[in-house]
Amino acid sequence: MKQEIVSLKKVVKAFLDKINSMWYKIAIDTEFWNKDKSNDPKTLEGLFMGVITDSKKRTDDIEKIKTNLSQEKRKVIEEGKYPKEDIEKAYNTAIDSLEDKKETKEPENFINPVGGKVTSPFGPRNKPRPDASSNHKGVDLQASSGQSVKASASGTVSFAGEQGGYGNIVIIDHGSGLETAYAHLSSISVKKGDEVSQGDTIGAAGQTGTATGPHLHFEVRKNNTKVDPMDYIT
Ligand SMILES: [Zn+2]
Repeated sequence: MKQEIVSLKKVVKAFLDKINSMWYKIAIDTEFWNKDKSNDPKTLEGLFMGVITDSKKRTDDIEKIKTNLSQEKRKVIEEGKYPKEDIEKAYNTAIDSLEDKKETKEPENFINPVGGKVTSPFGPRNKPRPDASSNHKGVDLQASSGQSVKASASGTVSFAGEQGGYGNIVIIDHGSGLETAYAHLSSISVKKGDEVSQGDTIGAAGQTGTATGPHLHFEVRKNNTKVDPMDYIT
């Protein structure tokens, strides 16, 4: 994901560089590359952040970047200082690269966070103990106490702490309405707001909260509804 943002930045940077190298004045905020505008959807930076945080929106976001570039191109042409043909050429190169990105990007697959087999599947079950749920809203994955728990896909930590029967739990927001949850952890090594990549260690397996023994209780939540994680893990 980080590589994608870098390469997308390169595409637009390449366009700006071409314009600059030909001494074309581009009517874009010159401090753009030095400022953090990641929260502003009106800036290119904001659009880039949208691209990485929501892979399914990527095609729409690339269209927005194209529109933005198109507006900049028009301004440069209107200045009338340089051959329109050259400006069009530089612009088309940038657009072609963006189109390539659109075609090759697929949503990331999810990985098994501990690599262990399923010891209790998703759905109705006999209660493993009286205070446990009879409708299992996640899967239990075999894991030993202290074993590293990895982020199933890249995203942003939306919760890290204690939560009732879950014990110590980490929740990661992957965008597109998808979240993953990792419960009963013996320790947590991330905090709310952290960006994680797929495979990053987020904590260690354990049996905090309502658990009969050390394992990882793993959930996938689609638009706040808990769904079978095994439909997502490849
Ligand atoms: Zn469970």
